[in-house]
Amino acid sequence: MSKVVSTFNPATDEKLADYAALDRDSLNAALQATADVQREWRNTDLKHRAQLLRNLANILRDEVETHAALISNEMGKPVSEARGEVLKCALTCDFYADHVEEYLAPKPVKTEAVTSYVAYEPIGVVLAVMPWNFPYWQVIRFAAPTLAAGNGGLLKHASNVTGAAVAIESAIERAGFPKHLFTTLVIADHSMVNDIIADKRVAAVTLTGSEGAGASVAEAAGRALKKTVLELGGSDPFVILADADVKAVTPFAVKARFINTGQSCLCAKRFVVDAAVIAEFEAGLKTQVEALKIGSPLDPSTQIGPLAKKSFVDEIDKQVQDSIAMGARLVTGGYRIEGPGNFYAPTVLADVTPEMPCFNQETFGPVLALAKAENTEDAIRLADLSQYGLAASIWTSDMNAGIELGKGINSGALFINGVVASDPRLPFGGVKLSGYGRELSIEGMHEFTNVRAIWAGAMPRS
Ligand code: NAP
Repeated sequence: MSKVVSTFNPATDEKLADYAALDRDSLNAALQATADVQREWRNTDLKHRAQLLRNLANILRDEVETHAALISNEMGKPVSEARGEVLKCALTCDFYADHVEEYLAPKPVKTEAVTSYVAYEPIGVVLAVMPWNFPYWQVIRFAAPTLAAGNGGLLKHASNVTGAAVAIESAIERAGFPKHLFTTLVIADHSMVNDIIADKRVAAVTLTGSEGAGASVAEAAGRALKKTVLELGGSDPFVILADADVKAVTPFAVKARFINTGQSCLCAKRFVVDAAVIAEFEAGLKTQVEALKIGSPLDPSTQIGPLAKKSFVDEIDKQVQDSIAMGARLVTGGYRIEGPGNFYAPTVLADVTPEMPCFNQETFGPVLALAKAENTEDAIRLADLSQYGLAASIWTSDMNAGIELGKGINSGALFINGVVASDPRLPFGGVKLSGYGRELSIEGMHEFTNVRAIWAGAMPRS
């Protein structure tokens, strides 16, 4: 019997749909179709590719309500945020349409040759293994630059957002990209991912997800000697120094932690605050976190939706209870909300120290950990005390001092007085257990190109 992948509404527990998973034969046919189409696509001109990206942007904008509702229903994102996600995808398609010619332009290099330059040629078909937490954004930020660079794309999306995977494939095709250039693979068995990586028709793989999945995919890619880009977890520090205007910073702190109900790799997770201002910060935080509106993700006023999967409620609750048992102080929240759906109360824990799970593990839900720093030096030490290194933010009245202090934190991004966010204009990615390689900007586009040296001289004459 063929396997089925099912999706469920995390706010109501109701089943949404069943999707037939690929068997070996249909997988083989899908790989062949994408490989064949990519061989033609790699020769298309850049203006044409740019036009298709603009078409895709327009489709996403025109259909924003449909796509946003799908996101909310499948993984529980509050619909106001889901709309923002879809519109950011459209903006990113436009961004790459604007820049594809510039980013892929050959770069002249002076040598002894008559002409020599660096060319950015397509690498082939790229497999993307993607997570559920930004089901459109994660895919489009891969697909827009990768297809524009002349490659084909295969998507193995998280099972719980299979509807989004199918809808994205449809939007890309309706934008005018050749059929099969970008293919959603509905896969019920992770071992099939390793087979796809090993397949000669696949050139490279990118994964956004947990360390476990990253290690598994990197291992398979290593065996096949294929390139990988890994975007993994994060436990970003949000550092508030003594000279910060704490009252002004507090709403940014709430946004940084509770966006997407806390289920973002980029969410600030460890709040390291100077002892001089921590009491004021905690008081303001408690008031604002308790005012967050929990409810149906489809209600435009909802700020906190359900967690995407049932098991996540148990996992986040265990991290909270274990941290409390080790001495953390519960300021607010700290409980699951009874009834249908995977709801967890927005939580603030104070007196958090580095040996506690809420400090040294990634917390993927609405839980804010507050740690006290004795002074600025101690704040930077605590901020850098993590196995992750995705991003960091520092809040201080002295912006230049903040940039300098940020050198003491090892991370893929540093924001001073701003909530960390991905932006198509800036490269995005991590160090340490947060992964390697970059997405977005010119660096993200070049990851899946063959950076080729061209050297040409005149025919030597006898
Ligand atoms: P996950 O369980 O690792 O799943 C991510 C994707 O990998 C899904 O498509 C999943 O498929 C697949 N997968 C899981 N195990 C696999 C294996 N052994 N072989 C092949 N594929 C496998 O992660 P998640 O729970 O969806 O996402 C949360 C994690 O992603 C967090 O750690 C978060 O920080 C990280 N994340 C990082 C970024 C970033 O840019 N750095 C962005 C977003 C999320 P199934 O759904 O079928 O299991």
